[in-house]
Amino acid sequence: MINAAQSRLQVVGVPVDPATFESMLAQIETWVARRDRVYQICTVSPEFVMIAQDNPAFMRTLHEADLCVADGVGLLLAARLLGRRLPERVTGSDGVPLIARRAAERGWRLFLLGAAPGVAERAAARLMADNPGLLIAGTYAGSPDPAEEDAILARVNGSGADILFVAYGAPQQDLWIARNRERLTVAVAMGVGGTFDFIAGVVPRAPRWMQRLGLEWLYRLYRQPWRWRRMLRLPRFVWAVLTRRDRALSRTERGSAP
Ligand code: UDP
Repeated sequence: MINAAQSRLQVVGVPVDPATFESMLAQIETWVARRDRVYQICTVSPEFVMIAQDNPAFMRTLHEADLCVADGVGLLLAARLLGRRLPERVTGSDGVPLIARRAAERGWRLFLLGAAPGVAERAAARLMADNPGLLIAGTYAGSPDPAEEDAILARVNGSGADILFVAYGAPQQDLWIARNRERLTVAVAMGVGGTFDFIAGVVPRAPRWMQRLGLEWLYRLYRQPWRWRRMLRLPRFVWAVLTRRDRALSRTERGSAP
């Protein structure tokens, strides 16, 4: 089990926990057993870090989240540049099927919110086929529009779900959870980006060898070229990490000078 207070690191001001899939599952297990409030999980990618620089509400949400896992090879590289090591990439796309497997074993009920109409249903069908006995409390596309919030909360809370996955993309999904934390009755809520699209087979996932080489972003750019503008955040992320590191180092040097 990780101790977030001791080992959490900051990448350009954004918190990142040195979590593994196993430690995330262990935390979820504790939180579902406790059920004392809504625990929020964010899957931090370089894109999250750059969005947070210009979006104070998103930055605050990430700081107030209970677990910020490193979703993206850029975070692992950034940690190394800062002299730290993150144990592994913990993606929403791999995490959701693992949580579903544990959910089937433990009897946790899942709610899949977001993605285009029909996609959450297809993702749920796939998860149920892979995990006999899995309890899907509900699925709903909806939208992150605040006008829809009351109706969505009624659906999610009325379903008796233990774990809520929200697929509205960043920062909307994470802001949606933060805004509604007090009114939700689930134990755990997690923003999962394009995960339902991958599980439903609407968008193909990069081949394993590309994932292993840290090239998943390149595959996504090839499959969804309209992402190029969003992806300009990646070189900006590298630059921000490097310049922050220089500042951090020069501060250390100044501090240790006689
Ligand atoms: N989405 C949605 N409503 C919105 C905006 C996005 O349901 O108003 C969904 C979209 O269909 C997709 C997911 O949110 O399933 C975001 O996917 P994206 O690939 O952009 O997220 P990433 O994985 O890059 O964070």
